[in-house]
Amino acid sequence: MGHAVRYGTTVIRYSVSISDRKTLAIEVHPDLSVRVVAPRGSTQKDIRERILRRAKWIRKHQRYFEEFLPRTPKREYVSGESHHYLGRRYVLRVRKSDKPSVRLRGSELIVLVGKPNDAASVKLLLAGWYYKHAQTRFEQSVKDSLSKFKNYQLERPLLIIRRMSRRWGSCTPSGKIILNPEIIKAPGKCIDYVVTHELCHLIHPNHGRAFHELQDKVMPGWEKWKQKLERTLS
Ligand SMILES: [Zn+2]
Repeated sequence: MGHAVRYGTTVIRYSVSISDRKTLAIEVHPDLSVRVVAPRGSTQKDIRERILRRAKWIRKHQRYFEEFLPRTPKREYVSGESHHYLGRRYVLRVRKSDKPSVRLRGSELIVLVGKPNDAASVKLLLAGWYYKHAQTRFEQSVKDSLSKFKNYQLERPLLIIRRMSRRWGSCTPSGKIILNPEIIKAPGKCIDYVVTHELCHLIHPNHGRAFHELQDKVMPGWEKWKQKLERTLS
């Protein structure tokens, strides 16, 4: 069931589930949802108070996850629409052709497709084109970014491209880096930022002080690229 509590100028919404555990736990998920797991017998008032006491911590986590939320509006895949590639804006041109293809020409992104009025087939063709370019560009970014980690004996990580609804990048404890193909729409430096951020995590899993020191060292001014990434993909 959904609940909400006001904290400063924001409203924190949360769901509650009751369990046999003895203590109350608050979870913040990457989709910004807040879930409270409360022991049996907890009152709504108890829970509200706990949420308020942890509000600063909850907002901090939500803000972190917020930065990874893709905010690109829904596309219709029709001529005239704006689409981004490596930080540049292109105007989509959809044309009928027996030989499907995608290419850039000047400021246009031209899609030749058998059924130009079928948004799904334009989308599919375009997604394949983005994916192919993402593979090449992301591998390059991993190679380039890795050169800044010479003192850390970091092996070249396995790169996985996976569409994630809530994050730009992620990594696994076994040392794989997962990148959202969407970031191919942002400038190259923004891609380097996401890759560098994940490479730092292979050394320091959490966002502690050591992590931030390393990130500042290997990519001074990373904040600028992070902001640009959010702006481009919003
Ligand atoms: Zn991180």
